[in-house]
Amino acid sequence: MCFFRINSLLTVIPGLRALAIAIPVILHVFSSCDKGTEPTITGNTIALTNCTLIDGTGHAPILNAAIVISDGLIVAVGPADSTTVPTDARVMNVHGATVLPGFINAHVHSGFDRENLATWANSGVTTVRDLAGPSSFAWKEKISKDPYCALLVAAGPMISVPNGYPLVPWGSPNMLPVNSPEEAQIEVAQLLDSGADIIKLAMESGEAFKMTIPSLTPEEALAAVNAAHQHGTIASAHVLVTRDLARAVEAGVDDIAHMVVDYLPDSIIDVMLDDSVLWVPTLELWHHVGGGMGEAAVSNLRKYVQAGGKIALGTDFDGYNARFELGMPMHEMEWMSQAGMSPMQVIVAGTRNAALACNRLADLGTLEAGKIADVLVVNGNPLEDIHNLANIRLVIHRGVIIRDLES
Ligand SMILES: [Zn+2]
Repeated sequence: MCFFRINSLLTVIPGLRALAIAIPVILHVFSSCDKGTEPTITGNTIALTNCTLIDGTGHAPILNAAIVISDGLIVAVGPADSTTVPTDARVMNVHGATVLPGFINAHVHSGFDRENLATWANSGVTTVRDLAGPSSFAWKEKISKDPYCALLVAAGPMISVPNGYPLVPWGSPNMLPVNSPEEAQIEVAQLLDSGADIIKLAMESGEAFKMTIPSLTPEEALAAVNAAHQHGTIASAHVLVTRDLARAVEAGVDDIAHMVVDYLPDSIIDVMLDDSVLWVPTLELWHHVGGGMGEAAVSNLRKYVQAGGKIALGTDFDGYNARFELGMPMHEMEWMSQAGMSPMQVIVAGTRNAALACNRLADLGTLEAGKIADVLVVNGNPLEDIHNLANIRLVIHRGVIIRDLES
């Protein structure tokens, strides 16, 4: 929601009350995100066999599957009898454990923090999407080479207007104010050229805070979204209520960064389905806000899911004055389950769909040949109990074994 901790929002804003062995590759040359050096890549190959494969696409699991990884990439994956394991591969029999894509948290703050990134990676969250806050794109590039840190996908400052959100109400300067569609187009282009991966628009008009906050005009929002698309990336929108959601959808944004907590009409859902808009609910944020907001968010999520809407996993980590779950976001997934999402739907939200929200589905989010080898192996079947996602056996990030509880 915002970018730094604030003493009790409910006090400040009364309005809200109402509402490596590096694998194949490998020499285990360092063991934590702290050391800042690259692993030595030797070109060796690893094969996981006897897997229960959940590939992130939503397809039914494959029993007795295998996956072959080499030089940081998945080179083959599928049923054991049709997946060739090279004779020189290091074979690891996982004895029926479940093999999934590395998970992605598609809404965090404090992503520009080495320790946080290391904790995420170690828990199987191999990518996070930072949706605005203090950021250094040069540091992001450097840290992205370290497999012991989660990959950081970042928006940088929000596109907003003078005296707009998040300066008001939070006092946060992490925004780029624009005064015209032309300025919006220029700022977005410059931001992406400087290293931002995606764009975040502040569509906050203040209703949730019982105040009026100036925000992007329809023309400015449209120009910003179009500029992002012209640069081959996506635009996410901060909204908290349906009125602002409608403005964001009208501008053509690709994903919505929070669930709304007021009445959600079918007419907007219909437009969102037509446009394949992703929704990142941040149920953890809303439960921290309290006052029934968590339940309202779960209820609207249920409505969107039942209508066939696409969901991506995201918590708003550190976006509020509360202790968010660092690592695998089990609480968020429990609330998603309460909204009627099946374990498979939750898994797809945390893998394929979250990769979409990062504009990285081409190389992340599913276990398919040619993609980056971000792999999570857990004991037990998360389709039977989603909590099994916390029973980690092995984490592979960028082809490097960064956690192996068997060794
Ligand atoms: Zn946020």
